[in-house]
Amino acid sequence: MTKNALIRIWQEVDIKTVEPHLLIAGHTTADCGNCKEIGISLDAVTCPKCGTAFKYISSRIFDSSKEAKRFKVRRPDLTIIDFRDFKEIQARIKAHGFLGE
Ligand SMILES: [Zn+2]
Repeated sequence: MTKNALIRIWQEVDIKTVEPHLLIAGHTTADCGNCKEIGISLDAVTCPKCGTAFKYISSRIFDSSKEAKRFKVRRPDLTIIDFRDFKEIQARIKAHGFLGE
């Protein structure tokens, strides 16, 4: 008998291909990673403002494993991204930009 569980798998991605298709979830609504529109339904397939198609979902809420379980049930169509990883990479790119690297 198998017992399925959620496990994080590290994958190399170009953050610039993730950000425009990222749905950033809060407790009840979400934000668009592309145009920063707020108050979007967690069930939205595309952004009501800019029309981008959501492919990834992330959460601002600290407990990411609980959030991942919630997303797996509610949005099995989206790839779940760790928000801290995402923000860390964004900050690194921004810092490199300032240094002209
Ligand atoms: Zn948008």
